[in-house]
Amino acid sequence: MCRSSETPLDRIMSGLKDLPSWLAQQPAGQLGEVIIKGREIIDRTEAVAADATRRFEKAGGYKADGFLGMVPWLRVNGKLSGGAAAERVEVAHQLKELPRTEEALARGEIGYQHALTIARTAEHLGAAQVRKAEATLLKAAETMDPGQFVGVAKNFEHQVDAQAALAEANRAHERRYLRIGQPVDGLVRIDGLLDTEGGAIVRTALEPSAKPAKGDTRTPDQRLADALVERCQARIGPGHPDGAGPRPQLMIKASLDTLAGIDGAPAGELEWGGTLPAETVRRLACDSAVTRITGLGELEQEITHAGRSIPPATRRAMVARDHRCVFPGCDRPAPWCDGHHLVHWADGGPTRLDNLGLVCRTHHRKVHEEGWKLRREKDGRWIATPPALIVTSRSRSG
Ligand SMILES: [Zn+2]
Ligand SMILES: [Zn+2]
Repeated sequence: MCRSSETPLDRIMSGLKDLPSWLAQQPAGQLGEVIIKGREIIDRTEAVAADATRRFEKAGGYKADGFLGMVPWLRVNGKLSGGAAAERVEVAHQLKELPRTEEALARGEIGYQHALTIARTAEHLGAAQVRKAEATLLKAAETMDPGQFVGVAKNFEHQVDAQAALAEANRAHERRYLRIGQPVDGLVRIDGLLDTEGGAIVRTALEPSAKPAKGDTRTPDQRLADALVERCQARIGPGHPDGAGPRPQLMIKASLDTLAGIDGAPAGELEWGGTLPAETVRRLACDSAVTRITGLGELEQEITHAGRSIPPATRRAMVARDHRCVFPGCDRPAPWCDGHHLVHWADGGPTRLDNLGLVCRTHHRKVHEEGWKLRREKDGRWIATPPALIVTSRSRSG
């Protein structure tokens, strides 16, 4: 036999040819070693094949045989299924970036299935991430069967993913802000960014208040804006579900003329800047739970005398009677409502249950700023009349 031009592959081939007759001589009880060696040869050959696959593909060697890619070439010529061929090519690509893994496979320290798992991890996370932990992963691969090793790789993926997700979330969190602008043309611009959790909390808090009531003509954006104000108004005093407890107080400077709704009276002034129309001042003063009106010394006294604040006992009675906003069709619960004086206290209306009604902010606004009339029938029914339909004035309202 001529051995002059013999390649390593030729030697393997002739070794394989000699194997069956040699194997026949071996005691059956010792064939375990043969099987192990056989597996090692197959696995180590995979490393050689991976290297060869890359170089052959890069050189476009498959084209000479009329194939459009390495995978179909390998499928036909390597006698593999499409999936198995694609897997070999992908592993070859990944191992190029993971030379330590490829070497470990070539030396028989890990099996092909270990290398496949590492290659898949690199596919998910990027080879750079895997390279950082390659030594640890290989150490685990050497001592574990491929099934166990998949668990290790999955854990690693999750760890890296979680770290990446956390880092991403932390970066996003840093960008949070909220700006509340100065009043311009009667409006205050609010804009900002919240992290995902903050956004979810705000949305969860606002959604219930932002639902449309029956016959609600507000746009979804208007409802959300109202909900924000409503929730801020209701939320400050904790543990006061009946709304009787302390609530955020707006500081408003107003004159007595303004409160009395006299034509030509100056506008109210807000502590944070901006002015308020007289009717808004009257609404805010209507239930002083949300406002503190300051003015001249004379005004302070007048206000005190008028009994502007609804005493807790009266408020509890009002909540017990009305339960929710009394506007027909509205179901805003008591904590989100103001007490409305049917006859404004500034006009001499008493702060008594028969002159009070529970109204949500939207409807309180309708009664004051938008000219609706609200009255309570003898049978306890509440009647709300829009401004255009008022033909006769049956009773004074606040
Ligand atoms: Zn009112
Ligand atoms: Zn209402």
